[in-house]
Amino acid sequence: MKSQTRVAVIGGGAVGCSVLYHLTRLGWTDVVLLERDELTSGSTWHAAGNCPNFSTSWSILKLQRHSTELYARLAQEVGYDINYHLTGSIRLAHTADRVDEFRHVVAQARAQGTDFELLSSAQIKARHPFLELNDIRLGLWDPGDGDIDPAQLTQALAKGARDLGAAVYRHTRVTAIRELASGGWRIETTAGSIDTEYVINAAGYRGAEVAAMLGEYLPMVTLSHQYLVTDDIPELIERGTARLPLVRDPDVSYYLRQERHGLLLGPYESRAQAHWLDGLPGEFAHQLFADDLGRIESYIEAACARMPILGSVGVKRVINGPIPYAPDGNPLMGPAAVGRNFLHCCAFTFGIVQAGGAGRIIAEWVVNGEPDWDVWPLDCRRYLPFANRAYSLAKALETYENEYAVAYPLEERPAGRPAKTSPLYDRLRARGAVFGARGGWERALYYARSADPAGTECSFRRPHWHHAVARECAAVASAVALLELPGFTKFEVAGAGAAAWIDHLVAGALPRLGRTALSYFCSPRGGIVSEMTVSQLAEERFWLISAAAGERHDEHWLTSHLSHRFGRLTLANLTPRFGTLILVGPRSRELLARVTDTDLSNDAFPWLAVRTIPIAYTEALAMRVNYVGELGWELHVPVEHLLAVHELLVTAGRAFGLAHFGLYAMDSLRLEKCYRSWKADLTTEYTPLMASLGRFVRLDKEADFIGREALRREAAAGPKERFVPLLVEAGDADAAAVSIVYRGAERVGLVTSGGYGYRVNRSIALAYVRADLTEPGIELEVEILGERRPALVGREPLYDPHNLRLRS
Ligand SMILES: Cc1cc2nc3c(=O)[nH]c(=O)nc-3n(C[C@H](O)[C@H](O)[C@H](O)COP(=O)(O)OP(=O)(O)OC[C@H]3O[C@@H](n4cnc5c(N)ncnc54)[C@H](O)[C@@H]3O)c2cc1C
Repeated sequence: MKSQTRVAVIGGGAVGCSVLYHLTRLGWTDVVLLERDELTSGSTWHAAGNCPNFSTSWSILKLQRHSTELYARLAQEVGYDINYHLTGSIRLAHTADRVDEFRHVVAQARAQGTDFELLSSAQIKARHPFLELNDIRLGLWDPGDGDIDPAQLTQALAKGARDLGAAVYRHTRVTAIRELASGGWRIETTAGSIDTEYVINAAGYRGAEVAAMLGEYLPMVTLSHQYLVTDDIPELIERGTARLPLVRDPDVSYYLRQERHGLLLGPYESRAQAHWLDGLPGEFAHQLFADDLGRIESYIEAACARMPILGSVGVKRVINGPIPYAPDGNPLMGPAAVGRNFLHCCAFTFGIVQAGGAGRIIAEWVVNGEPDWDVWPLDCRRYLPFANRAYSLAKALETYENEYAVAYPLEERPAGRPAKTSPLYDRLRARGAVFGARGGWERALYYARSADPAGTECSFRRPHWHHAVARECAAVASAVALLELPGFTKFEVAGAGAAAWIDHLVAGALPRLGRTALSYFCSPRGGIVSEMTVSQLAEERFWLISAAAGERHDEHWLTSHLSHRFGRLTLANLTPRFGTLILVGPRSRELLARVTDTDLSNDAFPWLAVRTIPIAYTEALAMRVNYVGELGWELHVPVEHLLAVHELLVTAGRAFGLAHFGLYAMDSLRLEKCYRSWKADLTTEYTPLMASLGRFVRLDKEADFIGREALRREAAAGPKERFVPLLVEAGDADAAAVSIVYRGAERVGLVTSGGYGYRVNRSIALAYVRADLTEPGIELEVEILGERRPALVGREPLYDPHNLRLRS
């Protein structure tokens, strides 16, 4: 084995080999793969090999599309035969909600260049003569779906990499990893040690074992998944080499496809089974778990009813193998929590079809410093440290059991909750709060009243809580209302050099003393990495506040850019120490004045000012900013005083008709003000200039900030697309994120968030559209659940255009 390399990939499954392949394609050929056994020894060898394009997630749709495009040309490209049957697939819809889901995904796929088709029962029958379809509303046709031999795929990827110079070391188990003081890593293996600049953890269900070598915990567990293969079926023998399309019956929860002249059936059953909770076995490579057909009996019966030829023969083989699951079933990709240049790429539940795209993303991350696509739903930093074994297990079981469930927007599933609650949790619940989890924190979504109309909680249409949200928005606009935001991420940067360092990170100007500024953190390519409010509390002392879900992501970005060249500064994560209350509405000043003796007048406490104010038995950091567009304050309160401050505001608030509001109302209110949301409207694929946030960029400021050169180039050329608000003639459904924007027959943009605005009484979509279509009044269309709805480009902001209410 070599003693030195640029990149060492740990794990020779489909994913690890794809990383190696893509690294060599990007020109990095001094790379090695370390495999403890033979290639494919983890989950890869026994996978069913199904390769759908379909996904309800925009990121995964992209990733899988890259894979299927690659697999179609791979055999020829690298000179290695692969059994890849491009049969197409049919997904069956039993319910109206499923039809809505399909319509939404069809449009997303079309925007990415993949044409799915909706089929009537007769059209399904024409493609698949053996299905019973009495209870089916329609089917979704994915022409690029099929099944691939996972072992051949893996070998082909490895060959492609080897041919360009990569080395693959089999029977080389990684036993220890340590970061070298000089930079880079030393990997100890059973075949000696190797030093490397970068490490990729592609160890599949052993990903957490490898992460533990760095002292890092990865939130993942091992479950079992099984499929059965039948004996040959006369009707399929008769068809010769013709193959049936793959069938998925998600409302029952199984996939069913042809395997040679038999059938292969794999259910996602409602009683998922976890394994190895006390640690992985030392040796387990080409073994399986014992068959457990009892667990999937009812699915076998349902599938036999759907396709009667299935029940006409016996079962030839059962495969029950280990499959890794992160809490949400998405892989864990991206930078490790410790050290530099260590990337995870493991915990794949659909690793055969995702290997291609995943390899590309990781290779770009290594070679270019960041992937071309924003992959936040797959980024391992989406999990905060609370996501321990118990949480991961509860969520993973729930995710497996819902693998095929309708993917509703805004669904809140119950497992692993409540994980983190604020001291106000019980009080808010007593007021009718219905909670959702954000970064593990329970936050009020809306406040229900017994007289409210009943209905389903989740829908692609406007759900029943629409009425409650309308009521809360009215309270915010007319009087005064309170929102609690536990887990709002907060960092303090202090010490000599603090200002210079932040100035180097943000694209805009730093706030003056006692002021706050909305600030954009860009990547070297100019993409938006993070959005934070930066407040200057004292000379060389700042608070940085960002989204709850971004805590680990932002902390990682900040710590990885800490540098002594700016001075001796300290960075502290204050998130758990402070709670946040948002007090807003035209009467918020009067109410706040009752409980603090600070001068809150416009002269003393203007918009965007930050002051420490006495309140109850403590001091709060009060900021005259908010995300809803009314007069108001963000109050950051030591968590042990939160209850007392809340009590005081509620008592004093009676005289002003104080109401409580939740996240859904906040989202509606911010849409009207066109305030962007991180990782919805603001991703690394958009720059601040594309996001129409040029007023927060100072290209000519003294500090040389990250991304400046890229933004200068973009400013000179003019961004190709820009962010605009759209006023949509919606029906009973608002535009969801990643709805497609049209101008005539042409696709001209993408919605990044949408909803109803109750103050302006309009359905709103925030979108990126072609730069020549951003003038207010231009008529466009947005596709909502299969229907093109008229949409007018609006002028930003849609509510209170001159910010008079904010400044009042
Ligand atoms: C029954 C079943 C059916 C499935 N069907 C499908 C399907 O149809 N389509 C689909 O997309 N997915 C399917 N999957 C999921 C798929 O099998 C996995 O997602 C995929 O194989 C993961 O690939 P991987 O490369 O990430 O991990 P693995 O294949 O597990 O590879 C990890 C490799 O790392 C090696 N390794 C681990 N630790 C070390 C170490 N310390 N040192 C060196 N090497 C190490 C292992 O030996 C192994 O070879 C199925 C899974 C199961 C169980």
